[in-house]
Amino acid sequence: MTDIIIIGAGAAGLTAAIYARRAAKSVLVLEALSYGGQIINTPAIENYPVAAHISGFDFATKVYEQAKELGAAFKFEKALSIRDNGSSKTVVTAKGEYEAGAVIIATGSKNRKLGVAGEDKLIGRGISYCATCDGAFFRKKNVAVVGGGNTALEDALYMADIAEKVYLVHRRDAFRGEEGTVERLRQRENVELVLDSRVTKLNAEKRLQSIEVTDKKGNVRTLDVSGLFVAVGRIPENRDFGSLIELDSAGYAIASEDCRTKTPGIFVAGDNRVKEVRQLVTATADGAVAATEAVKYLNS
Ligand code: NAP
Repeated sequence: MTDIIIIGAGAAGLTAAIYARRAAKSVLVLEALSYGGQIINTPAIENYPVAAHISGFDFATKVYEQAKELGAAFKFEKALSIRDNGSSKTVVTAKGEYEAGAVIIATGSKNRKLGVAGEDKLIGRGISYCATCDGAFFRKKNVAVVGGGNTALEDALYMADIAEKVYLVHRRDAFRGEEGTVERLRQRENVELVLDSRVTKLNAEKRLQSIEVTDKKGNVRTLDVSGLFVAVGRIPENRDFGSLIELDSAGYAIASEDCRTKTPGIFVAGDNRVKEVRQLVTATADGAVAATEAVKYLNS
C-alpha cells in the first residue's frame, strides 16, 4: 500500500511527487507513455520563471530526476480505472492493481485531430502533431502549421528555422496565443499567415503533397506543402475516471483551486482540470497544491 499514487508524469504529476515525498509520504507515479507530458514537445520554454530558454525535454528530465532522487517510485503502466474502497483506492493498470490512501489524477490532455478526411492515414506521411519531434524531416521544404494557440505559434517559429517556407493557417484573424510570439512570426520572411481560413482538403498519393484551405468567403487556395503540423488544441484525458470525478461538457475535471474532487481522497492536477490558464507554471502549481491537499487528507 502506497500513501499517494499519482497518475501521470507530466509537469503537474512530477511536481506533486516532489511535494508528496518532501512531506515524507510514499509515492508511486504511474505513466502510460514517457515522463514529461506535453512540455517535452516545446522547443524552448521562455515564460517559466528562471528557466528561460531551457528546452521542454530538458526541463522535464530535470524534474523527473528530482522526483526520483527524492524517492518517488515510477511504473510505466497505463492506469485504466480507479476503485474507491473508502479509506483506500485501487488503481487498475493493464499489468496489475495498486492500492493507495490517496490518488492524484494528473493525466493532462492529448492532441485534438483536425478532422479532415485522410488525416489518420497521413500521420507519419506528412502529418504530425509535434514539430519538435518531426520538424527535422522537413528541412528546406514547405510546411503548414494549423492552429492559433501558443503551440501553433511556437511550432511555426520553430519550423521557420528549418523549413523553406511556413504557412500558419488559422481559422480566425486574431490569435489565441501570445502577441509577442505573433510579432516574432510577422518578422520572419519565410512565414506567411493564412488567416480566416480552414484546411478543407489533404492532397496525397503516398505522402502529403498539398493542402487546400478555404477562407471565410469561400475562396479556395492550394498550398504546396509536404508537411502539416496540426496544433489545434488538446482533449483532457479524464474519460477513465468519470465516475469518481465530475466533468464539464468539454471533459475537464471540475475541481476548485484546492484540486479536490467529489470523491474524498481523489485529487486532480494540471491541464485536465477546469481552469482559466493552462501553462507550465499553473501545472506545477497544481501539482504542489494537489500533493499538499492529499497529505492533509491522509493526515486527517
Ligand atoms: P489552444 O490554446 O486551445 O489553441 C487551439 C487553437 O486551435 C485555437 O486557436 C483554435 O482556434 C484552433 N482550433 C481548435 N479546433 C480547431 C479546428 N477543428 N480547426 C482549426 N482550428 C482549430 O491549444 P494549444 O495551442 O495546444 O495550447 C494548449 C494550452 O497550452 C494553452 O493554454 C496554451 O497557452 C498552453 N501552451 C503554453 C505554452 C507556453 O507557455 N510556452 C506553449 C504551448 C501551449 P480558435 O482560437 O478560433 O478557438
